[in-house]
Order: sequence, then C-alpha cells, then structure tokens
Amino acid sequence: MPELKKYQMFIDGQWVDSDTKKTFETLNPENNKPWAIVPEASANDVDRAVKAAQKAFEGEWPKMLARDRAKYLRAIGNKLRENSELLGKIETIDTGKLYRETYQQAKYIAEYYDYYAGLADKVEGTVLPIDKPNIQAITTRIPIGVIAAIIPWNSQMFLTATKVAPALAMGNTVVIKCSELAPATMFEFAKLVEETGIPKGVVNVVSGFGDPCGKALTTHNLVEKVAFTGGPETARHIIRNSAENLSEVSLELGGKSPVAVFDDAKQENAINGITAGIFGASGQSCIAGSRLYLQKGIYNEFLDKLASRAEKIKIGAPMDSDTEMGPLSNFKQLEVIEKNIKLTVEQGGKIKCGGKRHPFSNEGYYFPPTIIECENHNLPAAENELFGPVLSVMKFDTEKEVIELMNDNQYGLSSGVYTSDLARGMRVSNAIRAGITFVNTYRLISPSAPFGGIKDSGYGKEAGIDSIKDYTRVKTTWFYTSDEPSLDPFSIR
Ligand code: NAD
Repeated sequence: MPELKKYQMFIDGQWVDSDTKKTFETLNPENNKPWAIVPEASANDVDRAVKAAQKAFEGEWPKMLARDRAKYLRAIGNKLRENSELLGKIETIDTGKLYRETYQQAKYIAEYYDYYAGLADKVEGTVLPIDKPNIQAITTRIPIGVIAAIIPWNSQMFLTATKVAPALAMGNTVVIKCSELAPATMFEFAKLVEETGIPKGVVNVVSGFGDPCGKALTTHNLVEKVAFTGGPETARHIIRNSAENLSEVSLELGGKSPVAVFDDAKQENAINGITAGIFGASGQSCIAGSRLYLQKGIYNEFLDKLASRAEKIKIGAPMDSDTEMGPLSNFKQLEVIEKNIKLTVEQGGKIKCGGKRHPFSNEGYYFPPTIIECENHNLPAAENELFGPVLSVMKFDTEKEVIELMNDNQYGLSSGVYTSDLARGMRVSNAIRAGITFVNTYRLISPSAPFGGIKDSGYGKEAGIDSIKDYTRVKTTWFYTSDEPSLDPFSIR
C-alpha cells in the first residue's frame, strides 16, 4: 500500500501537529482507500489558532493601508492560478469531484480574490446630518476581529474565497476549519497563502471534527463572527454555540431547488441546463436543481429526451478528462440516497433511469444519474435534500400552480425557469421564494453575484459588492467643534 501523504495544520505561520498527536485518515472516494493523514485538532489547538489570529488582529494587519492588504489578496489569486492543477488534483483525490471542474474552479476562484482586492479601498464611511450645534459626526467601517470560516467538503475553494477574501480585505483575521471528510485542499491552499508572505496568524487552518474542533472554534470568546456553510442540523449547533461568545453568524445551508419547464421552452437548452444543475458534480451542489416540474403538454416527450441524455452521461474516474460524473464524496451520501429512493419507490415513485448502485460502486462510491417520476412532491426523494444525482420529476398545468409547487418546500436557495416568454420568466422569478433564480440557464457563479438563500437555506449573502460590508462594523465618531466648554454635564443632548 502506498505511503499516506501527511498534512499538518497551519497555525500562527507554523506547520504543526495536534498537541494530542491525534490524526485521522482521509479517503479517496474513487477506491474507498485512505490516501492522506491529517491532524485531529483538540480544543487546545483551536485555542492556539484563535489566539494567533487575535494577536495578528492586534498587530499591523488591520492598520495596513487597504491597498497594501489588497496586494496580498492579489498574490493569493495569482498563486491559485499558478497552482490550479495541483489544487484541482488534490481536491479530486479527496472529494471525487471531476478534475476538469476542480482545476478550472481553482483557477476561476482567483477572480474572487482580485474582486475583493479591488473593493478593499472603496468601502467608505459617511458624514452624518447631525441634529446638534457644534458637533460633527462621522461613521467609518471597522474590521470585526477574528472570523471563524467553517467549510464543508464540496466546492471548498469557492466557499473559502467568499469568506476569506472579504474578511482579509477589510482587515480581519481568520481561522478556517476544514471538513473532516475532505480536508487536504485547505492545507494546499494554506501553503500558497504562506508563500505570499502574509503576516503570521492572519490566516490559520485547523482540521478536525464537529466536536471538539468545530465546537471549540464557534464558542471561542475571541471569535467575533462565524461564517458557516454546511447542513441545517450543524447550523443549529452553530447558532447555539454562538450564544456562548455572542458572535455574529452567517449561514449558507442546503437546498431542494425547483426548476420549471414550460411548454414553450427551448428544449435542448433546458435539457443541458437541467443536466448541469442536477448531474454536474454528481448533484453534490447546494444549488442542485433537484425538483423538476414539467408542463403537461411536453411532459412525456421532454422526460424521454432528458432520460436518454442522462443515460449517456459517462461515469468514470474523476481524473479522466472525458468523465462526466465521478463518485460521490463519501459512503454516507450513498446510503442516504439509496434509503430515500427506496422509500420513494415504496410510496409510488417510478424510476425512469438509474436508481441502483453503479457496478463501479464495489470499489468507490459511484451512483448513476437517476430520474424518478413522482405523483406529488411530498415523496421523500422530491422533498429532502439528497445531495446526489437524483432528479424528482412532477407534472404541472398552469403558471400559478407551478409557482405554488415551487414554493412548497422548507428551503429557498436556488430555482430555475425555462420559457421562451421572458415576461413569464420575470413573473415566476419574482414569485419564487429563493435567493437565486436562473432563467433559461443554471449553475453559474461570479464574484459580483450575491450567493445565498432564504427560509431554511440560511441567511447572509456571500459574494457581491455588499458582502464586503458584512466583514465590518459601523463605528460612529463624534467631534465637538466649539472652542467654548460644553454645556450642562447632567443633561443628555
Ligand atoms: P456539515 O454541516 O456536516 O459540515 C459542515 C462543517 O461544519 C464541517 O466542517 C463540519 O466539521 C462542521 N461542523 C460539524 N459539527 C459542528 C459543530 N458542532 N460546530 C462547529 N462546526 C461543526 O455539512 P457537509 O456535509 O460538509 O456539507 C454538505 C451540506 O452543506 C449540504 O447540506 C449542502 O447543501 C451544504 N452546502 C451549502 C452551500 C451554500 O453555499 N448554501 C454550499 C455547499 C454546501
């Protein structure tokens, strides 16, 4: 058996093991074999990381000119571009996500660092129209302090950038907690951050489990904000934890995103968009379009075409350039998916394609593209987030009906509409209770596009121009402008 790759945590500019020397293995989803060994952070390790970040926050970093901090962000972006092949490869081994996506994403994510580098010196304060004589009052935007960035295993480069880039731009310091299911990419990222010469302690990376690592971080009294991406159950822990340190919390959670196809949609375009939305990244995307509503005039014809497209998807090794779907990222995912499909079929769901483990599954966690016809969207596969390549399909008649159906779910992250009638596209978009709507397209991200949901999909937007302000607090400063002594000390004015 080949020797396991060894990683260390990045704390205060040093590469360290856990103080307990505890480690855990991370598995390659392609073959279910361990390939790397990483430290398991104790509460003490987390304390060290947070204190290092706090020391850095009390040092030069927040006092630096914004445009000088921006140079470090641009340097991080350049490192991502130069090392996108390495980052892509490591993420692919650790998560099973296709190399053709991880490598391109590492490169593209550089744009987020550039974007926030550009914004760093453009966040302005205000002069208040104050209602008092001899007083001038202003507001400025100040950094918050130590930010805990809690990252899941999927789309790590993206979900790190949307937190770390605005946080650093505004002068905060960060402790990143990587997912125990796929931690390696974050260590490779930390190596690149180190190479930029950023002051030590500004960026720290710890690896461990929800408890003690995640818990110690999100309850730590020096942590001022927790930027979390993950599942709703963990989010509930995070909110409870934040009662301990009164930290601000932002939550990017799951979704069960609905997509409607009207009779007048351009079908080839819709099939491509739906395929990208649910079978891209094997459906392991928080914005996966996993509930499909087809208007009754095209139902049979469209479903047949979609299923035949799905059956042609090439399943294979995630490093191969012609593979279109690789393995799921972990065994738990496979079990959750199978359980929900079984229950759905028992309750009347009809499998149109897929539905059973792929022959490759004996080795890795492969599951084929699956389409299930559902009489109603309260069947388990149509209602729950499965985080896999499983599309539940329902029929609808009118625009009003489909809007009601699309909104009838606890989540509100993404949504999609396919129609040739743009007025209808706009009406449906306005009526959908979701943070994102794609009209005649799907699965796009951009540094300038706010990303995040409503309802049980969480709160607080990431990316976009406004999210930089979420990494600041407003400070009000009052100036007394008279040379005369101030008046009555016993009366508030
Ligand atoms: P998860 O909630 O299991 O874990 C997320 C992170 O939280 C991990 O680093 C984990 O170790 C940590 N954690 C666990 N318990 C904790 C605790 N008590 N205190 C602090 N931290 C703790 O999620 P996952 O399985 O890694 O990711 C999948 C979920 O993430 C899905 O629900 C998916 O929809 C969601 N997701 C959302 C977005 C988005 O932007 N909205 C993006 C990607 C993934």
